Amino acid sequence: MDSATVTAQQGPRLLPPELLVAHLRALAAGSVPRVLAVVAHPDDVEALCGGLIAALGAAGATIGYVLLTSGDKGSPDPDVDPLALAAVREAEQLAAAAVLGVADVTFLRYRDGEVIDDGPTRQAVAAQIRRFRPDLLIAFDPWHAYTFHNDHRQAGFVALASARGLAPLPGPARGADGMLVAETAPGHVTREAWLFLTDRPDVIVDIAPGIELKIAARIAHACQAVDATAVALGIRTRAEDTGAPYAVPLAETFRTIPFPRDESFGARLHAGEW
Ligand SMILES: [Zn+2]
Repeated sequence: MDSATVTAQQGPRLLPPELLVAHLRALAAGSVPRVLAVVAHPDDVEALCGGLIAALGAAGATIGYVLLTSGDKGSPDPDVDPLALAAVREAEQLAAAAVLGVADVTFLRYRDGEVIDDGPTRQAVAAQIRRFRPDLLIAFDPWHAYTFHNDHRQAGFVALASARGLAPLPGPARGADGMLVAETAPGHVTREAWLFLTDRPDVIVDIAPGIELKIAARIAHACQAVDATAVALGIRTRAEDTGAPYAVPLAETFRTIPFPRDESFGARLHAGEW
């Protein structure tokens, strides 16, 4: 980001809708901007960055989701059939995505609670990145301190490693076990990542225009919203609490990471990055 991004030392800055549109256009270099969210569970997007998704949709972006698990352990009932629960949650995720105008949803179906940042998982996500070809990646901030949720942390590392390390490699990418990643898809460079659930935000998004869509999408996860009124209130309260330090009535915050094309030692030395 050029005009809107500031360092964490300077504090986060509000990104108005017109700047979001301009930034997306710059990332996409004249094409329709493409945004891919890589998350751990059904309802992660809606609960944690649904306001941004609504804003990106309003800005004209084409959006896709990749879910590492289908939430097969997301029930307090010890006798629930994990596969049946996963099927319900996938259907609810598709409905929630439709609320926000998102039709491209991929379920990788790793087991809930067992997400791990390993070679095969990176390959699976890198293959999706090569297929979808996003300009902007949205993912968990894996460095978020002291609110440990292992699936979320692992999902963040997998997403970043796949987008920055594996997907851009020229030619067929091979993992440690020799499995090809998207053999027929060329490598793809994602331009930037925005990380949610961060404790070091540099961008604030005003989600007031999309708050009702965010709530409706979250409530579409019906098995995780038995008391829909309470869920809606929780979303609104969280948005208020997030925005309060910045005098923004309803907000989500993000940490942005540009992925520079030229990371040669000389260029970085010249830029004073060493
Ligand atoms: Zn989750």
